[in-house]
Amino acid sequence: MSQALHWTAYYERMEKNAPLKIYYPLCGGGEECIFVCPYSDSIWEVVPIKVDLFGFREKVRLRPFIANPEACKKCYLCVQACPTGALRPAEEEIKHPSFVLLYNALRLPFKKRYGTKFVFRKEHREKFKRNNWPERYGVI
Ligand code: SF4
Repeated sequence: MSQALHWTAYYERMEKNAPLKIYYPLCGGGEECIFVCPYSDSIWEVVPIKVDLFGFREKVRLRPFIANPEACKKCYLCVQACPTGALRPAEEEIKHPSFVLLYNALRLPFKKRYGTKFVFRKEHREKFKRNNWPERYGVI
């Protein structure tokens, strides 16, 4: 557990090599991105990293990471499915994270494809719990 890297290490790696990046303090860990990616098995990994959840209590959590960016087809389905705005094209900056989170939370009920119903599906609720409290589930 103590060997987990800080979230900025993964953020910087994606910023350099991947067409997408994840601003981890906004990531809820529900794995909606991995769920919708047509090539998820060859692109994504879930890794233990040190990060807070929406600004609360930094600790080791499990989070999605683009381990093999060369396999990405840039369809951006994962970006559409991200409920918090944490996942975005590499060239897009996050200047005001709190605003991004609020904006995405407010628009969630109005999203046609990946709205509230999608985010609160059982599999995402379970991933959310496991990835934010991995010690309780014995996965770290
Ligand atoms: S852009 Fe498309 S192919 Fe690339 S990681 Fe996202 S969903 Fe997968």
